Parts: sequence; C-alpha cells; structure tokens
Amino acid sequence: MLVVEDSPDLAEALLRHLRGQGHAVDHAGSVDAAEAALDVAEYAVALLDLGLPDGSGLDLLRRLRAKGDRLPVIIATARDQISDRIAGLDAGADDYVVKPFDLDELGARIRAHARRAQGAPAARLEIAGLEIDRARSRVFREGAEIRLTSREWAVLDALLGARGRVLSKTALEEALYCFDAEIAGNAVEVYVSRLRTKLGAEVIETRRGLGYLVP
Ligand code: CA
Repeated sequence: MLVVEDSPDLAEALLRHLRGQGHAVDHAGSVDAAEAALDVAEYAVALLDLGLPDGSGLDLLRRLRAKGDRLPVIIATARDQISDRIAGLDAGADDYVVKPFDLDELGARIRAHARRAQGAPAARLEIAGLEIDRARSRVFREGAEIRLTSREWAVLDALLGARGRVLSKTALEEALYCFDAEIAGNAVEVYVSRLRTKLGAEVIETRRGLGYLVP
C-alpha cells in the first residue's frame, strides 16, 4: 500500500504499525512523490493526507479519478473538517479516517478496501477446523485464539489470498520483504513449519519443487 503523509512523526508511526501487521508499505511525503510512486508501482490501497507541502491531496485524487484509476483511496481528515470529508468523497475517495487515527481501526479499513479491490472472498474462512478472520488477522480453533506472529500471519495471509493455487517460495518471500531487508534463505520453510505446528500439518500442503498451498 501507499501512505501519503507529510508529517514525519505520523508517517513513521503509520509505517511501523502497518508493516507490523504484515503490509508492504511505501511512503510519499508530497504530491510529487506520491505521483511518482503511483506511476511505477501497483498498489492495493492508498492512505491520503489532504494537506501536503506541494499541493492538495484532493487535487491528486481528482487527477487519479480523471485518468480512470480506481485505486481504493482512504483520505485522512481532521476531526472538525467535515467539509474536507465531503469534498474527498465527492472527489472519489472510497473512505475516510479521522485524525488522530486509531491504528487498529485504520488497519482493518485498509485490509477491507484492499480485499474488496481484489474481489477476494469472505473475510472469515473455515479451514481444517480453524476459523480464520482475515480482517482482524486472527485465527481460532473451537473459539480459542491461536496467536501468530506478524511474520507467520504474513505467510498465512498470502497463502489464503491465493487459496487453492500454489505459491512459490519466491512469492512467499515477498510477503516477508516488509519485515527484513535481508531474508534468510530458509525463512519461508521456517514460517511454514511454525504455522503447521500451530495450526495443524494439513493446513498447508507442500508441492515439491513448486511451492506451497492452502487447499
Ligand atoms: Ca499534512
């Protein structure tokens, strides 16, 4: 996802939180930087601050929509600026969040919009006796939560997003890139093994030489 926010402190807090939840996040601190990022990368969702040093986030949003770009955009508005919210929704925003953010709520909204854009199926899945809530990144067995680390969740969530298809080790490594600049060669095997220990061996199948899948 892309976070467009010019306040360094707020941007840092957002990035740390969203990366901690398993999102691959780019940051832009200006309209120019955001347009450059949007030109070269495909994002699932963008969080857009409206007051940016070199222009208005609203104008950026209007230009996107004028080009026919349907990227889900969540605008960030101040609590007392109802007119901003209306203008943002009119300009083509999909949602808004009010500053100061509740980071957990923001994360849930981001995941909801990203899923909707991907046309993904239900957020709640039942697999091998587990109930998996993708919107909240939580897994339960018979009502009891099974705690996963954010890296374990990132691997599981990538497999769930491609359910029934084999994901290569490289594809799964990408799900881990947002955590470490360098990923150990056996990282995917390690996290798959931990997930099987916690969730049951049958949850993730190995296709030797090809990769892994959740059937
Ligand atoms: Ca700002």
